[in-house]
Amino acid sequence: MNTNSEAGQRDCEKLGEPRSFSGWNDFDAFVALIKASDDFLPKPVISPHSNVGLDEHWYQCSKCEGVWRLVEPDPPFAGLWERVS
Ligand SMILES: [Zn+2]
Repeated sequence: MNTNSEAGQRDCEKLGEPRSFSGWNDFDAFVALIKASDDFLPKPVISPHSNVGLDEHWYQCSKCEGVWRLVEPDPPFAGLWERVS
């Protein structure tokens, strides 16, 4: 989809981690990046970040096989994007 190869840098490396979100706009923009990327494939959540029912999704990077978690904000918790494995 994206034809400019920035020295082969993977999408998951460009996004950086861990990170949180400054608000819903920030979170929604980040989700849009994930969904627009060809690198991330949805995966089942094996062990949730928290047990209070936050919306959480896991993705596997098709380039490096790293698994990432995305947890939606629930103020004052600012959400989370981090590598799981
Ligand atoms: Zn990767």
